[in-house]
Amino acid sequence: MALLAPLAWAADYDHYQLGDPDAPTPGKVTPGLLLMGGGDRNFDSLRWFFERAGGGHIVVLRASLANEVAEEFFHEVGGIASVETYVFSNRESSSDPALLRSLARADGIFIAGGDQSRYVRYWRGTPVAAALQKHVMDGKPLGGTSAGLAMLGEYLYGAMDGGSQVSPLALADPLGAGNTIETGFLQLPLLHGVLTDTHFRERNRLGRLVAFVAKAEAMAGPGRRIIGLGVDEDAALALEGDGTARVYATAPGAGATVVPGGFPRTQQEDLPMQLPAFEVIGADAGSVLHLPEGRVEKPAFRHRYAVRDGVLVALDQPLLVIHGGAGVERASLDAKEEAAARAALEQALRAGHAALMAGQPALDAVTAAITVLEDAPQFNAGRGAVFTHDGRNELDASLMDGASGQAGAVAGVRRVRNPITLARAVMEKSKHVMMVGDGAETFAAEQGIELVDPSWFRTEKRWQQLQKALAEEANARAAVVLPGKAYFGTVGALALDAQGRLAAGTSTGGMTNKRYGRVGDSPVIGAGTWADERCAFSGTGWGEYYIRAAAAHDVCARMKYSGVGVRRAAEAVINETIPARGGDGGAIALSADGEVAFPFNTEGMYRGWIGADGVPHVAVFAGETLAEP
Ligand code: ASP
Repeated sequence: MALLAPLAWAADYDHYQLGDPDAPTPGKVTPGLLLMGGGDRNFDSLRWFFERAGGGHIVVLRASLANEVAEEFFHEVGGIASVETYVFSNRESSSDPALLRSLARADGIFIAGGDQSRYVRYWRGTPVAAALQKHVMDGKPLGGTSAGLAMLGEYLYGAMDGGSQVSPLALADPLGAGNTIETGFLQLPLLHGVLTDTHFRERNRLGRLVAFVAKAEAMAGPGRRIIGLGVDEDAALALEGDGTARVYATAPGAGATVVPGGFPRTQQEDLPMQLPAFEVIGADAGSVLHLPEGRVEKPAFRHRYAVRDGVLVALDQPLLVIHGGAGVERASLDAKEEAAARAALEQALRAGHAALMAGQPALDAVTAAITVLEDAPQFNAGRGAVFTHDGRNELDASLMDGASGQAGAVAGVRRVRNPITLARAVMEKSKHVMMVGDGAETFAAEQGIELVDPSWFRTEKRWQQLQKALAEEANARAAVVLPGKAYFGTVGALALDAQGRLAAGTSTGGMTNKRYGRVGDSPVIGAGTWADERCAFSGTGWGEYYIRAAAAHDVCARMKYSGVGVRRAAEAVINETIPARGGDGGAIALSADGEVAFPFNTEGMYRGWIGADGVPHVAVFAGETLAEP
């Protein structure tokens, strides 16, 4: 054993040097903490940092890669006498005398990104940790980005199990082993009681920060409040020695988010998180943040959330998202038609918004928006529906309430003016989930739901589309399957109400030239429509593929089981699974924390959303920019 001892003490690190380490430091060294969110480094914030280091000597610490950061500091940002980089590969290096001499001499120290579990393993309880602590206490500046920022708080997420925790899994078991919260590294007075997180907005990390704060508070013991501080990828916080911090942003709206903590200590081991309403405060370039107390002057936003059974839910931030069908083609849409479709989408958004602002549940907003679109002849739902092979209009619709898990659907109806209303009646007034054809219409009559003459649905444009499809089919002779462009204009809506409840609905005439009795995905719960407590979905596309992929349910299940966000989940199913099998189309999806996805793989998809401010946002073609909620 004794023989192994000298080896175990071998320091092993890479060292790089730029500039003149013996040049005098030109300026005065003053305190400051640079907290960078992890994206491209913001040069203005680096200049701020170098100024605090008196334009002198910077030491970069890391545990992967080489001296890329130092090259950028020295050659691109400039204004410093020298920069040294130490790349660690073990804990023993943390006792290396030459390295410790550099740290003691440094005017500014910067911890680069990488894997923070290495930093915890290599540095905690070593002379490097002591040197960093002394550096700050001596009034010199310290900075960190990504993993380097994650290390600076009193409590920190150490990613000790090799992974990178995602919000849904963090909330599923906040006190659990996956949330590897560590402490005992640095004790910086300005980050006392603070836990930092990075890549914040981009990686949808609010949920995990809330869970981390809960765990840190449980570790810290009764009466201690821990503040969560998330910094966006495109932002850096420059924290002065007096505890005031300002945001440097490289992208519009980027900044920092404060989770004020002080949560009720009711969280139990092995159970999903439950948290009544709490506030989250945003800081942007116009704000001033005070640390360590976490107060924000001129906040960019104050939002309320709750966590219900491990699901992060936005409160008082109602949102309505709609689609008017994928499969839109520029060639078959003239300017007048496009303008009329856009106007109808806006009208539908306003109708749903009015319901949400009146405090009505999500389901009411979905029904209101879809009713408008069913009545608009521009869309393939209600009036303006496509024709079947034998020249009729057969309508399908469904909706689902995420809060109760209730659902209703109708298929193959020919006289119901607003099939979505009938689907809702099936859900609320019958013992069933789905009713079809004549039976559904008998039920509609019983319920006093408006029936119309089938000619109500007829539009000349759709009739001509059928004639074209029939002619093409006859020409091709061979058994032509339904062509991809046989669908367009199905409508759907998703809503998140002020109480954080979700609902989804879809209504369609199906696909042009469909055979008798054909039913697509739109009225099939789990295929075309789904809503639960965390996710809502409405699809539009080649329905047979959506049914076989259980598209709607698959998107929401991916979020629940693997913890991916709504965008990744919807993107995977709509733009990977379905095209890989030969299908196409699009969808809208919405999560309970207010994230929206609009994936599609056709030339266009009618789509839009409206938030609490009542401003409708609408887009039609691919590549058209649509602001994010
Ligand atoms: N998905 C619908 C169906 O197959 C059509 C569409 O989305 O336009 O019935």
